Amino acid sequence: MKACVLQAPAPIESNPLKFMDVPVPRPGRGEILVRVNACGVCRTDLHVVEGELPPRKSPIIPGHQIVGVVEESGPDAQRFRWGTRVGVAWLHRTDGTCEYCRAGAENLCDHPSFTGYTVDGGYAEYAIAAEDFVYPIPEGFDDEQAAPLLCAGIIGFRSLRLSGIKRGGNLGLYGFGAAGHVTIQVARHWGAEVYAATRDVRHQKLALELGAKWAGGTLAEPPVKLDAAIIFAPAGEIVPAALKALKKGGTLTLGGIHMSPIPSLDYDSLYEERVIRSVANNTRQDGHDFLGIAAEIPIRSQVQLFPMRDANQALNKLKNDAINGAAVLIA
Ligand SMILES: [Zn+2]
Ligand SMILES: [Zn+2]
Repeated sequence: MKACVLQAPAPIESNPLKFMDVPVPRPGRGEILVRVNACGVCRTDLHVVEGELPPRKSPIIPGHQIVGVVEESGPDAQRFRWGTRVGVAWLHRTDGTCEYCRAGAENLCDHPSFTGYTVDGGYAEYAIAAEDFVYPIPEGFDDEQAAPLLCAGIIGFRSLRLSGIKRGGNLGLYGFGAAGHVTIQVARHWGAEVYAATRDVRHQKLALELGAKWAGGTLAEPPVKLDAAIIFAPAGEIVPAALKALKKGGTLTLGGIHMSPIPSLDYDSLYEERVIRSVANNTRQDGHDFLGIAAEIPIRSQVQLFPMRDANQALNKLKNDAINGAAVLIA
């Protein structure tokens, strides 16, 4: 099969992904072989490719927002029929036995594996998934539309939940890429007012089109105090500005897997029971809940399509804020 293979992390400008022939993987116990139709491009892929996340498997095929069909089931795998359309996300598998898994917090599992990071992912014609960690894709979404829901959507949704935002509350979104443009649709559905702070004017425009009450620069001060805010951009220097925009008791949620260093903070900006918290991965329940809501709204993702072989180009554009909405690779 054809796949985009990363031999070693390097700046995306050097086109480190090689489009090459590799053997089709074989599904093991409890696993399925998925024929990839579309794979969303996530900022985490950029962190993997450029080495901000330390390599865990090398070479590696990135990609963890896979929409495809079940081509083959491994021994003991009985959940899906041949040809069922499924989604494969970041959380490839957990041990199911550690204290976090037993407590219903499998997103914090001590021994997790991750699609496109510790096991090969979806920048390829085929990928392997553990059948218990795969999502049926609701009807009504075509493959390209569904792909960004699987990470940008699910992580955005978990971030929204952890932010504690309520109906009528003021929510700030810092960074307005793939996750932001999906999350705003859920927030609006829940009756929150959204204020989008993002450096790119095209992203500001998209936020306003999707119902933001205000859009401005990343460090610009929103016109109202925020009940909650979520930072999707991987830039630690946003944290002090976002904290300053929060009401007393407000929560600042950091939605990314990687962030540049956070500058030192005056205690005054945190005092009055403001909270800063990160988001790590998601539970399968988050995924199921989100996909249900996504179908109900229904969420419309704005996608920019690239042939699989052009993954370097898609990641390059993502790095330079040149994607409006989400980038998706097409097999
Ligand atoms: Zn565990
Ligand atoms: Zn992701």
